[in-house]
Amino acid sequence: MSGAATAPLIALRGIRKRYGGQDGAPAVEVLRGVSLEIGAGEFVAIVGASGSGKSTLMHLLGCLDRPSGGSYHFAGQDVATLDADALAWLRREAFGFVFQGYHLIATESARENVEVPALYAGMPAAARQARAEALLRRLGLGERLDNRPSQLSGGQQQRVSIARALMNGGRIILADEPTGALDSASGAEVMALLGELADAGHTIILITHDRKVAAQARRVIEIRDGAIVGDSGAAGGAAAAALAPLDLAGAARDSGAALGAELRDAARAAWRVMWINRFRTGLTLLGIVIGVASVIVMLAIGLGTRQQVVAQLGAFGSNLLYMSSVGESSRMPGRSITLADLDALAQLPGIAHVLPNVTGNKVVRHGKLDVQTYVRGTGAALPQIQTWPLAHGGFFSERDEREMATVAVLGWRLARKLMPDIANPVGQHILIENVPFQVIGVMSEKGALTGDKDEDDLLLLPFSTAGVRVFGQREPTYTVLAVDDVARIGAAERAVDALMFERHRLRDYRISNAAASIAAQAKTQDTMTVMLSLIAAVSLVVGGIGVMNVMLMTVRERTREIGIRMATGARRRDILRQFLTEAVLVSVVGGVAGIGVGVAFGALLLLWQVPVIFSLSAIGGAFGCAVATGLLFGFMPARKAAALDPVVALAGH
Ligand code: ADP
Ligand code: MG
Repeated sequence: MSGAATAPLIALRGIRKRYGGQDGAPAVEVLRGVSLEIGAGEFVAIVGASGSGKSTLMHLLGCLDRPSGGSYHFAGQDVATLDADALAWLRREAFGFVFQGYHLIATESARENVEVPALYAGMPAAARQARAEALLRRLGLGERLDNRPSQLSGGQQQRVSIARALMNGGRIILADEPTGALDSASGAEVMALLGELADAGHTIILITHDRKVAAQARRVIEIRDGAIVGDSGAAGGAAAAALAPLDLAGAARDSGAALGAELRDAARAAWRVMWINRFRTGLTLLGIVIGVASVIVMLAIGLGTRQQVVAQLGAFGSNLLYMSSVGESSRMPGRSITLADLDALAQLPGIAHVLPNVTGNKVVRHGKLDVQTYVRGTGAALPQIQTWPLAHGGFFSERDEREMATVAVLGWRLARKLMPDIANPVGQHILIENVPFQVIGVMSEKGALTGDKDEDDLLLLPFSTAGVRVFGQREPTYTVLAVDDVARIGAAERAVDALMFERHRLRDYRISNAAASIAAQAKTQDTMTVMLSLIAAVSLVVGGIGVMNVMLMTVRERTREIGIRMATGARRRDILRQFLTEAVLVSVVGGVAGIGVGVAFGALLLLWQVPVIFSLSAIGGAFGCAVATGLLFGFMPARKAAALDPVVALAGH
């Protein structure tokens, strides 16, 4: 590009701009072959009546729009060959726009408005703030740094927009009717400012319908009905004072804003917009809040209930097999299940305990009180394998079993009936069939644990003692086998069956277990949890649609802001990122609120004795879903914003 040094800064050849022509609207040619050269450092006024095409021309000059025909060379480079990112770079580095309507971002302070172009150029925050402040001071707005546009006069707003145009250097200032909305004094001030900038070497292209204003420029170009009808010609000598030329190769190296800084700024801007629209945003967020909260509560209840079911079933004996004799052989000594069988079964892998039981109804006496009750001779491991703790004293031991000790443990209700006046029955003696037994313990209330109240009437004795001294039989009535691993209870059952069949050669015994029904119950519980979670997930989706709705509204309301950001150099991906950040921030706020509500509600349920177990993974998962929902549903509005045409967006309301 050897011509770049000598080529004029701006060269238009036969530029045409046509509007309409589609969907029935008649095509209007707004610019009809404009040819024009502007050198670096010139101060040019383009003057013409309203509707003559001045603004259209300015948009083309500022790379906010593309011509329908003709060519535009900027510093020797054909602009038509540049992609959207390179055009954004050019707007950011080469141009500074000043509009009739100021076009400041209403939610940002004066200083923040001035900082916007530097943000997209990737200037560090501290330098950015310092430069914006210095520019505003230079333009006499040192006292107004933190004012919003609505708190500034028209003249002050226009000075803020000039400061913004200068933020990235402002080599070429494109001013479209900059005094149009100002009173004459403010207008004169702005014109004086532009004159100073021209003296300092900035190229100024001023657009106006006012000949008196135009006359203050060094060169006046007249436009009528989309064609140039007069040009006073370039004033010599101005180019000498021009600013250093722009290195166009920079567009290729452009990395734009630093990701972190831009995200921070986007989050800050998003927070401000959310705060301004807090009522609307809050209502929309309800969907996400309810979604996240219900996922957390549902899963917590599901988990809590499941745990309770499992605990109850554990107390019922989910890991237990029950074996008893059947048919005639059950009454035939030596043919029924024997202690030798049980010894053999105890050797099987996977069998943790073998508990022989002998049972029957007996009258138990304490003092003068007789109580008819169910007596069970059993093994020392009973409290352990039935998860049935003692309320008082201890349980009998293996040694009591071997030595046929005359000791007894009372069920909770039996103790009440037998010794209503004795708080702790341990140490008392009772009589069964005239044999004295010493009470060594009382079981805890089984009814409270499992609802199985009958067991609270039991009298428990060592198996050997009960068999020999109470029932007169050595063989167990039934046997309880505890397996190591609940998951493998089926295999254990088959192994027990195989061994018993080998020893007996016929099936004179029956084996049963509760595991199948337990598994079914747990499964029902899981299905419930899944169903409830699905409902919660649906409300998350509803929340996501709410986010999409609020984001679409935001994009609509802030179309002009998007245009301003694009005019000051934001690339499409910067706009995309900003609105995605907003969507995510909205859902993060919703997610956090949802966690708060969910945990609070769960805590309330706990107070009402509802079994609730919070799981970190459920909370994290619900939060992650909320953020993902925001990303997913925010993407469409964000892309819509990014796809806006700069000129269309600027004209937007
Ligand atoms: P000026 O700035 O000189 O007042 P503009 O460049 O804004 O004029 O507009 C020139 C003509 O182009 C006007 O007649 C206007 O109606 C028309 N025009 C501008 N923008 C569009 C558009 N997007 N679609 C159709 N017509 C347009
Ligand atoms: Mg105009």
